[in-house]
Amino acid sequence: MSERGSYDVVVVGGGHNGLTAAAYLARSGLSVLVLERLGHVGGAAVSAEAFPGTGARLSRYSYLVSLLPQSIATDLQLDVELRSRSVASYSPTIRDGRHLGLLVEHDEGRTTQESFRALTGGDTEYQAWQGFYAEMADVAARVAPTLTSPLLTAREMAAGIEPALWTALVERPLGELIEQRFHDDLVRGVVATDGLIGTFADLHGPSLVQNRCFLYHLIGNGTGEWKVPVRGMGAVTDALARAAVAAGAEIRTGAGVSAIRTDPGPAAGAEVTWHDGEREHTVAAGTVLANVAPWVLQILLGGEAEPTTKPAGSQLKINFLLSRLPRLKTGVDPHTAFAGTFHVAEEYDALSAAYRQAAHGQVPTTPPGELYCHSLTDPSILGELASYGAHTLTYFGLHQPAALFEIDTEARRLEAVRRAIAAIDAHLMEPLLSCVLTGPDGELCVEAKFPQDIEADLAMPGGHIFHGDLAWPWASNREALVTPAQQWGVATELGSVLLCGSGARRGGGVSGLGGHNAAHAVLASR
Ligand SMILES: Cc1cc2nc3c(=O)[nH]c(=O)nc-3n(C[C@H](O)[C@H](O)[C@H](O)COP(=O)(O)OP(=O)(O)OC[C@H]3O[C@@H](n4cnc5c(N)ncnc54)[C@H](O)[C@@H]3O)c2cc1C
Repeated sequence: MSERGSYDVVVVGGGHNGLTAAAYLARSGLSVLVLERLGHVGGAAVSAEAFPGTGARLSRYSYLVSLLPQSIATDLQLDVELRSRSVASYSPTIRDGRHLGLLVEHDEGRTTQESFRALTGGDTEYQAWQGFYAEMADVAARVAPTLTSPLLTAREMAAGIEPALWTALVERPLGELIEQRFHDDLVRGVVATDGLIGTFADLHGPSLVQNRCFLYHLIGNGTGEWKVPVRGMGAVTDALARAAVAAGAEIRTGAGVSAIRTDPGPAAGAEVTWHDGEREHTVAAGTVLANVAPWVLQILLGGEAEPTTKPAGSQLKINFLLSRLPRLKTGVDPHTAFAGTFHVAEEYDALSAAYRQAAHGQVPTTPPGELYCHSLTDPSILGELASYGAHTLTYFGLHQPAALFEIDTEARRLEAVRRAIAAIDAHLMEPLLSCVLTGPDGELCVEAKFPQDIEADLAMPGGHIFHGDLAWPWASNREALVTPAQQWGVATELGSVLLCGSGARRGGGVSGLGGHNAAHAVLASR
């Protein structure tokens, strides 16, 4: 262990963003210490043997990558492969007792067109879909390149976007845009889900948090494509950690930070206190980068754990390990149906109904959610199980706000999982659980993570997957953009403490943007 008592930069939290910042700063010659409370780095971007003894290493929390700019991978020479899925999405539905489905290929072609036609009875909805996503591609092409530069103002960003689209996307609730452009309940729902991932919102809500969530899901690398990290999400984190260490950054795991103290005055600096399980350490820092959520940072700075401002997550993640993929009532080959995002109960009206129920304190009767099979695109995470036809399946359930599980906890959790599986089973020829493997410990390979579990595992407050509600990836027109930290969207009220995680202006998701932008703010102020 190093004996240094001070560093140019101390990074609090070894999530993928903290590692990104550390790598950039160390490569620029700064001394950097990363302090991570857990026994390993990566935060929500990790692989783990969720079912002990099976050898399968699942992306336990986050699972797909879109927002990590290629420029970061290139700058840091990351040995990461992100693989396209052959299918974008499959969405089963039941109409008049008939099992139907909408298949959207990765490269939309005749099969996609025919699927739209069979579902909607014509080509209008497919044309609307193609027109809409062509416009979104223009928005993505405009916004994506700005994410790794100082913030543009809203006015500057809007200058490159058709005014009516800007208004519909940025100033009016997302539900209006979707209802204006699409008519089919399922098509509308498939479009809407991108606004609701990890975000508890009414599509017509005035906060427009659903619009911001939607935008983030469509702009990654200018295409919005969500790709599979080969060898699992842990491979992304491992590559970042290697880049940081190779550049000279020090990483301490098992190092829980309990306090950050800042020096008053212009020659600002800070002290970080952490515990290694045996004793307390204090280290001086020119700048502290907070990879922890802003709400957690306030506590580390001596503030109260204020319940009224605490973020609240809204998702149910279930990891499954299967002996085989289940067959579908539509007859579509499961190797096709599960190759992309498999939407469950995500028709537009079903999304609204589930939101209303959850907002009234009830676990949704038919929970909306989406399934994703990593192993169809990348079997490497299965280990030896790959040769037995096994598969992983990940469920990300929407509209499961943390508050639902504060009371009657065990019963409600069981009910939420039971209902989620029932909603999936409605489209299967054989119950999902009949396809689930039993682990060496005799337990079914099913792992459910509620927001409270995410908080307990990862210290994401309230289990909010983005550390708090997403912000627009630009500055408001009157925002102070004086200091480098303000310009890069990583400022706190303290000059020597910057945000470098998901809670930074453009940091949400597995993107490295929080880390990249904080590092550039530090370098710009030297
Ligand atoms: C279930 C789930 C599914 C998701 N799916 C996706 C997805 O598919 N694609 C996607 O792009 N995004 C997804 N996300 C969101 C994404 O994972 C996060 O936004 C992103 O990983 C945040 O990275 P980060 O480095 O900013 O923070 P984190 O990953 O939260 O890392 C912060 C680190 O700080 C550490 N820490 C906290 N407190 C302290 C302390 N006091 N002292 C020291 N260390 C501390 C934590 O242990 C953690 O390692 C998902 C998130 C979850 C939870």
